[in-house]
Amino acid sequence: MDLRLTNRVAVVTGGSAGIGAAIARGLAAEGAHVVLVARDAERLDEVAASIEGVRVLTVAADLTEPDAAERVATAVEAEFGGADILINNAGTGSEETILTAPDSRWQFFWELHVMAAVRLARSIAPGMKARGGGVILHNASICATQPLGYEPIYNTTKAALVMFSKCLANELIGDNIRVNAVNPGLVMTGDWIKTAKSLTEGAEQTWEQYLQKIADDNAPIGRFATPDEVADFFVFLCSERAAYSVGSTYYVDGGWLKVTT
Ligand code: NDP
Repeated sequence: MDLRLTNRVAVVTGGSAGIGAAIARGLAAEGAHVVLVARDAERLDEVAASIEGVRVLTVAADLTEPDAAERVATAVEAEFGGADILINNAGTGSEETILTAPDSRWQFFWELHVMAAVRLARSIAPGMKARGGGVILHNASICATQPLGYEPIYNTTKAALVMFSKCLANELIGDNIRVNAVNPGLVMTGDWIKTAKSLTEGAEQTWEQYLQKIADDNAPIGRFATPDEVADFFVFLCSERAAYSVGSTYYVDGGWLKVTT
């Protein structure tokens, strides 16, 4: 299937690791130029160096800061004259209880998961419109619908991101910009491995066994997804082949969601 992504310009937040890096590599493999955004410049450079055959721009920015989106848009404008694709993927898990977490913690995740997407839409969508249209995707989580007990702030802000995605889709489809959200389930990225290693240090259970138990207990498919398996879904949604997909939320979760939506 020709995805017709050659020479498109794609901004991928959280493009220096895990799912974001896999999406960037997937888009680049289809001929799209990529802009990788994250805080750690060194990790950005490593991923950039691993991508060949297309132009790669890195922007080191903390997306919880109010001026970050505008800085990203300015850098993209200077290098490429605008973007055709925006993947709002940067994010991280939380751990707290509602009764003990201070306002500042809610505010941090609101900035990272919601306001970053709001501000990037404001900064990048007008240029997309001028280019004739585009695609904006939000990487939320199955937790937006089916909460995990230890991370109420993550669940809540990801649910807000899904609603934002729907509202943005309604606002932008008239400009030929398709907006959708993806809700992944268990995806084997650095954080999971780091946590598993620290929790099993000195224990009989290996970190691999720890993660396998999580998969067995939750995902009917019995395993984690690889970042590439989720990334491929994003890449498809970016393409004209997904031209009728608008304002939806797609689960890529190995069957974990316990209800239909
Ligand atoms: P990783 O921790 O592997 O990567 C996160 C990326 O986001 C990194 O590039 C990180 O770079 C960047 N990032 C984090 N905070 C900021 C910030 N303040 N400003 C800019 N960039 C930031 O995560 P995953 O690949 O696992 O997750 C990616 C997305 O997928 C997240 O939104 C997550 O919630 C979602 N998701 C993940 C699942 C999983 O099982 N892994 C399941 C469902 C959803 P740096 O730290 O250098 O800034």
